[in-house]
This record gives sequence, C-alpha cells and structure tokens, in this order.
Amino acid sequence: MAVTSISELRVDADRLWRRLEEMARIGATAAGGVHRLALSDEDRRARDLFRAWAESLELAVSVDRIGNMFARRAGTHDERPPVLLGSHLDSQPTGGRFDGALGVLAALEVVQTLEDHAVETAAPIEIANWTNEEGARFAPAMMGSGVFSSRFGLSDALNAADPDGVTVAEAIEGIGYRGKAAVGGRRLAAALELHIEQGPILEEKECDIGVVTGVQGARWFDLTIVGEEAHAGPTPMPRRTDPVAVLGRWVVDLYRRVERDFAPHGRLTMGVLEAMPASRNTVPGRVRVSVDIRHPEEPALDDLEVCLREEAERASSARGAEWRLEPVWRSPPVRFSGRCIDAIRSAAERCGYSSMSLMAGAGHDSVHTSDVAPTGMIFVPCEGGVSHNEAERITPEQAEAGANVLLHAALGLAG
Ligand SMILES: [Zn+2]
Repeated sequence: MAVTSISELRVDADRLWRRLEEMARIGATAAGGVHRLALSDEDRRARDLFRAWAESLELAVSVDRIGNMFARRAGTHDERPPVLLGSHLDSQPTGGRFDGALGVLAALEVVQTLEDHAVETAAPIEIANWTNEEGARFAPAMMGSGVFSSRFGLSDALNAADPDGVTVAEAIEGIGYRGKAAVGGRRLAAALELHIEQGPILEEKECDIGVVTGVQGARWFDLTIVGEEAHAGPTPMPRRTDPVAVLGRWVVDLYRRVERDFAPHGRLTMGVLEAMPASRNTVPGRVRVSVDIRHPEEPALDDLEVCLREEAERASSARGAEWRLEPVWRSPPVRFSGRCIDAIRSAAERCGYSSMSLMAGAGHDSVHTSDVAPTGMIFVPCEGGVSHNEAERITPEQAEAGANVLLHAALGLAG
C-alpha cells in the first residue's frame, strides 16, 4: 500500500479491533469483561499471544527478570535509545477488555503499520507489556515498571506474595516468563502510553483525544479517633465520648472545606470505616477511617493534609476524644514531558481529531517511566467513564483514533 506522504499514514482499524477481540477472549467473563490476573495462566496465554503476534512481525522479543516483555523493531540508527510504546495485559479480577490491552495492541498496530508501508524510523521502537500493573493479585501495583525505574527493588518485588502465599518469583517461573535481561538501567528516548480515560471528561466534552499533562498526586492515611466504650442504654448523651459523633462532625466539616476550597481538582475519599468493638448496643471506643486525598499540585496536597488535621483536632477536642493520623502511602504529582505532550498534541491535529489537555486521575505505568524517560500519555474516552468494571466499553473508532495519535506521536519522537 502506497501513501503519498507520512502525514497520511493511518493504522488498520479493523485489524486492531480484531486483535482486541481476540485478546478479550483470554479470561473472558460471562458479563463481557476479563479475568486476567497478573502471572496467572490467563496472563501466560495473553503473553503468548502477544509474543506470537510480535514474532510474526519479526520483532525481537525479550523478557527481563521481573517478566516485563519488550518487542523491538530496529531503527536506521539502531544504537540510539528506543522510543517505548506500551501498557499492560493483566486485569482486575472483574476487569474490562480495554484497560491496558488497548495500549499494548495499539503499539503493535503502530509497528505493523510502519512495516506495511516500509516506513523506517531513526530510533528503534519497542513495545512494552509491563508485569502486574493492576496490583490486584500482588502488591504493589505498577510493579514491573516500578522495578524498571528503580522505584521498587527487584528482590522485594520478586518476594511479594499473593493471598495464597505464592510469590511473584514462583508465579513468573510457573508461567515461563522469568527472563534473563536486567530490569531497566538503560536509556529510553521517550515512553508513550495509550490508555482509556477511565473517567467521564472526554465523553462529556465530546472530545476525541486526551493529551495527558501529568498524573495527580495521592496520599493515603488511616485516621483513628479514640473515645470511650459505654453502654448504649444507661449512659446519658452528655456523658459519652463517642468517636462516631466526632467522626460525623469531622466528615461534614472536611467535605465542606474540600468542596469549597479545593475545587475542582481536590479529591477526598473514605473507603473503609470501622467502629470497634462493633457491637450494636455499645458506644464504640474507637473508629478508624481510611483517607485518600489527591491533587495535581504538591502544595495543595500539603494544604489538604493540614485541613484533615485541623478538622480532626476541632471535632475531637469538642468532645474530649483523641485522634491520630497515620500516613500509609504517598505518590507525588507527576508532570509529563513537554516534548511528548507537544508530539501528542500535534499528532492529534495532524490526524484531524479534537483534543484537550487533562490530568490522569489514576496511577499508570507511565508514572514510573517518567522517572527515567520523557513520558507522555494519550487518553481516549470510554463509555460513561466506566472502568475497572466488566461493562467497560469503547468504540472501534475511539480505538482507531488513539492508535493513529500514538502512531504519529511515535513518528515525531523516533524521527
Ligand atoms: Zn490500566
């Protein structure tokens, strides 16, 4: 197939969609989603299929010691660091068909399109399938890319165990993907990831492409409020130190401040609430709440944390209760590379798609690659913003648009 100029180059949308459907059959669930936990037999079959497709294009497939897979197409200046395109093939226990798989299979489609049209790039292009992005079976999430970027140690990751006590090392060995290559420690020209948005903004704005400028920061805490256990009947209300009453005021006042002072970017979530001793007719002695705060700016995260503490103190002291806030985890905000952002924006323009800038709400492997390489992410809308859900849907046209932007952004960066 001849194209008169590089700017007219487009992916084969039908081929991409057929591959997405074929991949979705591995671990397919009755409700239309996928069950493809990291390093499971389903993951092995997904990896085998990806490897077979890559080898049919004569790409050199390598596997590193944490099981990350790389399929490489040589450049005309093959000594140059590669442009990496990729995402993940593992899923949540009841995951969707496009989360991760779109990024890997679109990268494959990009390389095959270059092959079809005999287009060479100066820098080599590598397709990455990162190990255990989801973190559903083994913690932490985004494990393979985290070891690649040295955020996590290799032996810590290999020793992580699933709820049955099977370690990552045993599971990788078991599916035959314990590679010999060193993890990371090599230069990349750039890293690009196409992913579904997993949120509602692009659909609401009827926009084809999200140019992701970064990933918001997150901090996790456990808040414990300590009061005094008492009988639910005889103890008069004024005599109680009831941590649930403290919690009630804290929640109301904190939500009010976050919604008023941190809109539109601030996020506050309390996903786990426990009262102890959890008896119907005892005033609880303690309550514990998980707190997740997120914001694109580090100073705003600092302010949010101050806010948590001020309101905890105000609500507790009013009733003579005690409180403590324990940090559990933190991930600072990430800013993607200006060069990658520009490459993605002009790729969308070149292909005639509407685009807008936005921040990623969730974690991705790109958070880790941005530690070691100029990184960019492309979002396409998904129906109703629904993800981590078997009902996750995108259209063939949305997949095609994302892959075309990935193609032209990669061409822009690989030369
Ligand atoms: Zn994902």
